[in-house]
Amino acid sequence: MTITLVFDLDDTLYLERDYVRSGIRAVDLWARSAIGLKGLADAAIRLVESGRYDKLFDTALTMLGVPVDPQMILQMVSVYRGHVPDIQLAPDARAFLSAGHDYAFALISDGFSVAQHRKVDALDLPRFGINPIICTDDWGRDYWKPHSRAYEGVQAAHAGRSTRFIYVADNPTKDFLAPRALGWGTVQIDRPEAIHPRTAPSDMHRADMAIASFDQWSHERILALFDSIVERSQIG
Ligand SMILES: [Mg+2]
Repeated sequence: MTITLVFDLDDTLYLERDYVRSGIRAVDLWARSAIGLKGLADAAIRLVESGRYDKLFDTALTMLGVPVDPQMILQMVSVYRGHVPDIQLAPDARAFLSAGHDYAFALISDGFSVAQHRKVDALDLPRFGINPIICTDDWGRDYWKPHSRAYEGVQAAHAGRSTRFIYVADNPTKDFLAPRALGWGTVQIDRPEAIHPRTAPSDMHRADMAIASFDQWSHERILALFDSIVERSQIG
């Protein structure tokens, strides 16, 4: 019986900030040709560099002295989500996925369907034997994490092959609740450049262990982790 490692996508396998920059460049190109507006990328990148992701295009337009038109914002968001992203796997993630382990791989990602599928394609994830690749938004917003449907889907897909599952992800607010409840191991990848807050709201939200990158992966620690989960379930 093998162990299945299930990865999150954004800020786990690649840096989401690279996607944001790539999307801003795509929207900037659109704005130049569709409405003759220059300077959007500079304004938007200045905002994200100061940590302001909320209402990004509204604020950038205001900075440029352009009145905010909701229709225009909708178009910008649609260009952003639909663009073909210029992103790469984090070097440690690429090395890890290519290393020829005995693990099986799968992926569970939240986020708007179109955007997530474009990311999966740009990173060529099926090439690494990651299967299934589940974008929860294909089922609708109700099934985003922490809903358990995607995790149960991976278990069903790997039945007869794996009895032990680990979710590797970055965001304790939503990533670890459901897999913990299913008895999975959880590993937080705590990249210094990650976008989202990385402090757990409660003990139930916390991962079993944290690493700064896949370079710190240890199979021995993973095996010890499963021993501690068995103890946890016997005590509980
Ligand atoms: Mg993430």
